[in-house]
Amino acid sequence: MAKCPCNDHTLTLDELLDGWHFATRCQQTNRTSRHDGIRDVIVALYKELRQTVGTEPNRLHNFGNDRPADVLAFASVHNTAKHLALDVAVISPDNVDKLPAAATQQYHAAKGKEKAKIKQYENYLGRLNPPETPASSDYEKVPLVMESTGAWGPRMQSWWKDVIKLYNDVEADSGNSRRQKGLAHTWSANSFTSWWAQRISCTYVRHLIENIERVAKSGAYSHYHA
Ligand SMILES: [Zn+2]
Repeated sequence: MAKCPCNDHTLTLDELLDGWHFATRCQQTNRTSRHDGIRDVIVALYKELRQTVGTEPNRLHNFGNDRPADVLAFASVHNTAKHLALDVAVISPDNVDKLPAAATQQYHAAKGKEKAKIKQYENYLGRLNPPETPASSDYEKVPLVMESTGAWGPRMQSWWKDVIKLYNDVEADSGNSRRQKGLAHTWSANSFTSWWAQRISCTYVRHLIENIERVAKSGAYSHYHA
């Protein structure tokens, strides 16, 4: 039987060998560092656009240690009616019991996670004293959900359009390449959008690989080593 230190009893040898297990059901991968890595790239992106954002503000409502946002984009950043409480999450399409179509329908898992995040936020607001609602709150919850396949959820895609608009608004030479501007770039990532979209995706993949290496080393992979 294929084994991983996470003791997933449904694990198959194929899932181990092709790495799929680690992107989906493995409980030994460090999800906090993956989450924080993506959050930090988003903060760096805003910094390059000379925008000040809040990181994990835990006092949005002066209430305990709940953290409704990983990154707080103030209303002035995107000219929105409310501050945007950006909330990063990665979801595995084949790890959502209540969404049987998640693995085969595009963004199904991401949409489900977006809804759950909004519901969680409503509950959170309802527990405040006095209670609030999304309509009365100063903040709009914006779930940035990536699927572990790399796909971005619909809300993350619409946020990305706002980021590109922001870039075009604040950059005098928005048409110039990163190389022309003397900024870090690669041959395949030489524009604002390709550079930052790749950095977000690469952060996820890098953490995945680091975790496979770490977990695989500590596992009793009799088949793996055979
Ligand atoms: Zn595992």
